[in-house]
Amino acid sequence: MESLESIISRLSYGEALNRYLELVREDLVDCFDRVRSVVCIQPHPDDTDIAAGGLVAKLAKRGVEVVYVTLTDGGLGTRDPETYPAKLALERRREQEEAARVLGVKELVWLNYRDGELQPTLEARLELVLLIRKYKPDMVLAPDPWLSYEAHPDHRASGILAAEAAFFSSLPHAAPSALAFNLKPHVVRYIAFYWTRKPNTLVDVSDYVEVKMKAVKAHKSQFGDIPAFEDALKTYMRLMGKRIGAEYAEAFKVLNPFNMHSNVFAEDL
Ligand SMILES: [Zn+2]
Repeated sequence: MESLESIISRLSYGEALNRYLELVREDLVDCFDRVRSVVCIQPHPDDTDIAAGGLVAKLAKRGVEVVYVTLTDGGLGTRDPETYPAKLALERRREQEEAARVLGVKELVWLNYRDGELQPTLEARLELVLLIRKYKPDMVLAPDPWLSYEAHPDHRASGILAAEAAFFSSLPHAAPSALAFNLKPHVVRYIAFYWTRKPNTLVDVSDYVEVKMKAVKAHKSQFGDIPAFEDALKTYMRLMGKRIGAEYAEAFKVLNPFNMHSNVFAEDL
């Protein structure tokens, strides 16, 4: 078989780059059809439902096991100074439980970091590595931490932590304490980022918009003006839908975690 270098050597730079990206992308084709279990690592209760609720409902209907790991307690999610954060956190937990039931999520895990103060610490990374080794997902879903102008530290930190944990979960010495719990190293095949500027995978969720909106509306404490929020969210999904000729779509940047280290082409994938 002819080597890749030899094929590339005959082409112009533009042609060679396209050929190379095409080959690497082959690994990502039909990723959402191939997964059997997904761990969704979210900063707050509601993020996955808003960004990817259509995908979650679609996967759950196909029998995919979906687990939500919520990093913070969501206690800052109010403009009302009279609301007590611990009470709000409890309320948001109940809302997330209801939304998860609507979408068909199998299990919820709560890590209870303080809302608004999440940092990409070693401690948090280890917690996520242990959870990945426990649930053995084919895919990890998280916010894109490299979204320009993202001001919320929890969203940036969650994406970084998810990427690090997906990358390190396969390395036995990256979390030696896991071995004590008999949690074996696990290879995560894909990581999918939502709220991303450079999506490479669009999912037709036209048949799941209704159930998604039902789940989103379960987060009652978060939406003062539900019609305005619903309009904004559906407008975004319409825009993404136009990219694939669907009524509504959700957009993701999907990578193999091993594409996420010293890879100057990761942005182009
Ligand atoms: Zn959030």
